[in-house]
Amino acid sequence: MREIIVGIDLGTTNSEVAVVRDGRVEVIAISEGERILPSMVGLADDGALLVGEAARNQYVLRPERTVRSIKRRMGEATHVALGDKNYSPQEISALILRRLKQIAEGHLGQPVNKAVITVPAYFSDAQRQATREAGEIAGLEVVRIINEPTAAALAYESGHQGARKALVYDLGGGTFDVSVVNLEGDVVEVLASHGNNHLGGDDFDQRIVDFALDHIEAQNGIEVVQAVRHSAIAMARLQRAAEAAKIALSDRPYAMLAEEYLLQHQGEPVHLAVELARADYEAMIAPYIAETLDATHIALAGAHLTVSDIDEILLVGGATRTPLVARRLEETLGMAPRGELNPDLCVAMGAAIQAGVISGEQIASVLVDVTPYTFGTAAISFLDGEEYPYCFVPLIRKNTPIPVTKSEVFYTAYDGQARIDVGVFQGEDRDALNNIEIGMFTIDGLRADAPSGSRIVTSFSLDLDGILHVTTREKETGLERSITITIANALARLETDQLDAARERVRALFGEDSEGEGDSTDLRRHRVEALALVEKAERLLQTASAEDGEDLVNGIEAVRDALDQNDEMLKMTMGSLADLLYYLEA
Ligand code: AMP
Repeated sequence: MREIIVGIDLGTTNSEVAVVRDGRVEVIAISEGERILPSMVGLADDGALLVGEAARNQYVLRPERTVRSIKRRMGEATHVALGDKNYSPQEISALILRRLKQIAEGHLGQPVNKAVITVPAYFSDAQRQATREAGEIAGLEVVRIINEPTAAALAYESGHQGARKALVYDLGGGTFDVSVVNLEGDVVEVLASHGNNHLGGDDFDQRIVDFALDHIEAQNGIEVVQAVRHSAIAMARLQRAAEAAKIALSDRPYAMLAEEYLLQHQGEPVHLAVELARADYEAMIAPYIAETLDATHIALAGAHLTVSDIDEILLVGGATRTPLVARRLEETLGMAPRGELNPDLCVAMGAAIQAGVISGEQIASVLVDVTPYTFGTAAISFLDGEEYPYCFVPLIRKNTPIPVTKSEVFYTAYDGQARIDVGVFQGEDRDALNNIEIGMFTIDGLRADAPSGSRIVTSFSLDLDGILHVTTREKETGLERSITITIANALARLETDQLDAARERVRALFGEDSEGEGDSTDLRRHRVEALALVEKAERLLQTASAEDGEDLVNGIEAVRDALDQNDEMLKMTMGSLADLLYYLEA
């Protein structure tokens, strides 16, 4: 049996482990359907060690028994408390690495003793050494430490088209780094790097939490908002809702922040229900993105290069799924960034590729299938300073991995507008009429009394069979029309008979069922879990105090209502009920 070397992305917020087997790169599942391990370690009240999601769940309630973001302390001669003992940063990191090692061993069915581990390009020798020690404590020989941007460039196969220079833009949960790299084949050299290790998607969540608190204050007054701020459970629920809204806004123009029975204040329930528009959210986070662009220019200057020397921009880190990131990068640097790989996983994939190169594996491409065309619709806007009715508005941009769904909001042009013609175009030209019209439909019967500027949400979904589904919906009334179009040659690199293989690969890479069955099986599985959770809550209800009982009944009802809704809603309500159970049991 060939000795396996795994690749590990030991991140500030999250960690992943990947491996190359039979030439294919595989990110190993931590639990069913989940390949990301939160980089958190905790001790339960009974002294049991918690690593990952369990530690993350405990953090809100027992921060003193939980350690997060230990990567920020690596290389310091310091100790952190966990329960009544102190541990070095290496020891805490080793607990995360040991869990990843166990997961890999369970998955591969053989011992795993060697790893390639990634670190930020700016890590000092002491920080690299500490990472190596963490590996050793965990029982892993660290055969190589590689830079995170190097790993990302390997996964994106950037150097395979000859010598190139790339910008690796990495925006994670709590850190931001940008690196300028020189690539040739599998050889990657980091020329310069800059960043802020206290900037990331968590700040975006915080802005949304602030928005929700402002709304609660406006609706209920200062006393109520102070009570919310003092309730760990209410704040945890807001935090969770904020992150879910942020993620929804990456694909949709609106997201709802809805938390029923957030709190009981002087006998009165406090509910939250407020909609957040993507445009308003983008205004909140624009200063953060501006800071990342400044850092990008500093990194370029550090490498003695200008934008025109850069061949491509690679996106890394979960928060780069925020559409404003790609948009601002394109506006500022004049180049659309590449984002075909799952940005949470590409560093681990690159570490596994490096490990595969060291152990002499032949490695197949990890690049996934993307649409070679841009699809969009037409709307009235300004083209070269003139108002023009057929400005092209792209919804799905070329090189987006498929399957994909994206939606945008449009506005009616005049009072009482009864119908809208929705054109569907394929192409790149800013004038939709210069692109190929691949479909057209009409939504009529809009409200006669609707003022101009009424909101119309149009959604494009493209699947791996090349079926484009376009739906247009009047936001206020829910009036909806749709069209389905078959796109010829919808896959960039594939013949039709290769579709099955492509589907398999995408499925393997993302752990998803591309035919939508995944959704229904996920939903089925979540329903079973939800019923088990409800049963447990009902048991607890029998011994709970009146106040806790009320919270439990609300939580149970929310999960029961969600059983008939979508998976996202179900997961959200289950999360809140699980938090409550955890709190009550603790
Ligand atoms: P990472 O540290 O790379 O795992 O990135 C984690 C961050 O990415 C967290 O702040 C997540 O909330 C954020 N994130 C994950 N998915 C999305 C998404 N679809 N849109 C925006 N942010 C996301």
